[in-house]
Amino acid sequence: LEPKEEFDHSSLTVDVMRPRRSDPALAVLTQEGMTVGEVEALVESTHYSGFPVVVSQQSQRLVGFVLRRDLLISIDNARKRQEGVVSASQVVLTEHAPPQAADAPPHLRLRGILDLSPFTVSDHTPMDITVDIFRKLGLRQCLVTHNGRLLGIITKKDILKHMAHIANRDPDSILFN
Ligand code: ADP
Repeated sequence: LEPKEEFDHSSLTVDVMRPRRSDPALAVLTQEGMTVGEVEALVESTHYSGFPVVVSQQSQRLVGFVLRRDLLISIDNARKRQEGVVSASQVVLTEHAPPQAADAPPHLRLRGILDLSPFTVSDHTPMDITVDIFRKLGLRQCLVTHNGRLLGIITKKDILKHMAHIANRDPDSILFN
């Protein structure tokens, strides 16, 4: 692998991550407060492989990352097998479940499918370092933060596209081959 010479050293991770300015906002889950129906609607309205989980929409503090596949399987299982879980049930990703109102449907606890240590880089990390991290750790995606607040996501494909754009070559021949 000798792509470094070809790589645009002036790029920063913030230039390659998503969302771009014109893109819809990053699709995130909050660690509490969303219902099963809301989570399903979010997952089904996108094709992303995973979703960052934040403390709250307002804080955007990163809690973890959950894979689309795991979310869909867990919700489907719970709807079939877990007594009382319905669209209005609250999805709980926190360590300790919030109090359950007497007249509310039971919570759906999904902490078990949450990756609590997703890889992150800061927005100002030079892209050649981010590429090195992807290569060495074999990452598929990495979250991008600024002072601990979640800003975006960068996938292996985003990097390949960016490098292909710069090198104007077939992406598959440049990286991870
Ligand atoms: P891939 O890049 O391998 O196709 P995804 O399907 O997860 O992986 O992502 C497709 C595109 O959407 C990528 O450009 C990625 O940066 C972006 N993306 C991934 N997850 C999210 C998300 N939760 N919210 C917004 N954009 C995302």
